[in-house]
Amino acid sequence: MVARDLGSRIRRRGLMLVLSSPSGAGKSTIARNLLESDSSLELSVSVTTRPRRGSEIEGVHYHFRTMRDFERLRDSDALLEWAEVHGNCYATPREPAELALAQGRDMLFDIDWQGAQQLKEKMRADIVSIFILPPSMKELKARLKRRAEDQEAVIETRLKNARNEIEHWKEYDFVIVNEDLDRAFAEVRGIVVAERLRRDRRPGLFDFVSGLLDEKTG
Ligand code: GDP
Ligand code: ADP
Ligand code: 5GP
Repeated sequence: MVARDLGSRIRRRGLMLVLSSPSGAGKSTIARNLLESDSSLELSVSVTTRPRRGSEIEGVHYHFRTMRDFERLRDSDALLEWAEVHGNCYATPREPAELALAQGRDMLFDIDWQGAQQLKEKMRADIVSIFILPPSMKELKARLKRRAEDQEAVIETRLKNARNEIEHWKEYDFVIVNEDLDRAFAEVRGIVVAERLRRDRRPGLFDFVSGLLDEKTG
């Protein structure tokens, strides 16, 4: 009953916006700006076994869990996708994402290429994926160091993994080079605006257009 009720009120299906990039390219910064500027977009808060950074808040940036708890969630089918990234486990909780989609709310996923592939297999039509590239490897390294959130060894691992992540750029719908942050952000905004206007995401248009055609023009 609840599901049918919901269904009758849906204006359109939610958009699943996937952002990926090598670590340090700026995807969290762009994601944050996007979430601040767009109240109808919400973040899918991932579960991770990685240690919390000083700037991160439990339940806001991630749900920080032990490996044991992570395995429990995975085995109870509570995860929509999961992957090992830079030696830690990361996953998208199933329920918030499925609910958002069913209710026509838009959700942002800051996930790696393995997660993007898994989501695409499960929810192809609802996904819009964007890959963010750094302007150069030198600048990527400089940003990782400037962010000053990770130990030297962790930065080295992330730089080593960057090439592997970048190799998947062709699997994404859109590619943005984050050289100038304002420009890159405006480009991502443009993609979101355009994707929301897609005809096949707006079943409500049928009624609107019928109404238009029924109107007398005198
Ligand atoms: P960042 O690369 O500096 O943003 O560092 P993080 O430790 O926050 O994330 C490491 C990687 O894990 C990034 O590539 C994220 O996109 C990815 N990631 C975060 N959450 C998830 C998730 O739920 N699923 C998957 N598959 N990857 C995730
Ligand atoms: P990611 O989430 O991809 O790992 P972050 O968003 O944490 O990357 O960005 C890494 C660092 O680079 C941060 O310190 C951020 O402020 C900085 N940064 C992001 N975009 C730019 C840019 N266009 N120019 C310069 N610095 C940037
Ligand atoms: P152009 O506008 O000539 O394609 O690129 C000029 C500069 O913008 C280059 O230095 C390049 O790194 C950067 N650039 C290229 N493509 C993109 C893009 O999609 N987004 C952003 N933000 N910068 C880009």
